[in-house]
Amino acid sequence: MEYGERILQKSLSGPDVVELQIRLAGFRGTIPDGVFGSGTELQVNKFQGHYMKMATPTGLVDRETMLAIDQFAADLPINFNRLKCPCGTCSGFGQGLFKGRYFAGRPRAEAFYRYEYPGIHRMILWAARSIMFYMPEHTFTFNSSYRCSINNAQKGRRSTNHHGKAVDLDIELKPGEDKHDDRDKCNVVRGRLIETANAQIGWSATNVKALEPQDIAPTWVHYDVRCYEQKYLKDEFFCTTLRDLDNKKPIKI
Ligand SMILES: [Zn+2]
Ligand SMILES: [Zn+2]
Repeated sequence: MEYGERILQKSLSGPDVVELQIRLAGFRGTIPDGVFGSGTELQVNKFQGHYMKMATPTGLVDRETMLAIDQFAADLPINFNRLKCPCGTCSGFGQGLFKGRYFAGRPRAEAFYRYEYPGIHRMILWAARSIMFYMPEHTFTFNSSYRCSINNAQKGRRSTNHHGKAVDLDIELKPGEDKHDDRDKCNVVRGRLIETANAQIGWSATNVKALEPQDIAPTWVHYDVRCYEQKYLKDEFFCTTLRDLDNKKPIKI
């Protein structure tokens, strides 16, 4: 069933549930497995309570809730030019190189996977929208979130997180604020992401959004989906345009 063609509620499953799970990735968060279980219900309840200001969330994704999710996206457009790789050679989102290839002598783990994913994972971008919604007191900007293998070579970097799985968020400083304030702000934002999006510091748990710790990312917030199983990192989850991120569908219910 296409998203927008039926009311979604607990115990349903299908590709429209996957779409819902992606869109609500920053409201707690679950796996995009297409099964509407208690994790998805919690996402809906948080969205209805916090964004729609419903006193008693229903957990039922009806027309009103679907329109509110569309409005949430429209409130928080994302400038894809800010996400593009700065290498000067690739299209901005890699060249799809190294599919199935890992660093030599390393485990076949996502941390060592060299594949240049075809864009940025939709879940991490929808999740980034949520923190912008939860913390309107801050102005967030993205800082070259895609960095391909060419850019890694230019910079002497090994990490492949930014081959589509990660974004780096900067928080604009107000006049008179310095690096110490920046560090404090980033710590507060990480704390809110743990609370509102069920994110973790570091990469220990599977299928949980990850944040780099303060010692790696002192004055920015690095947010990624590296811990997700490969079935949730299929090419179809990645996007290179706002239109594909939003994937807006007519709400027919
Ligand atoms: Zn590049
Ligand atoms: Zn980063």
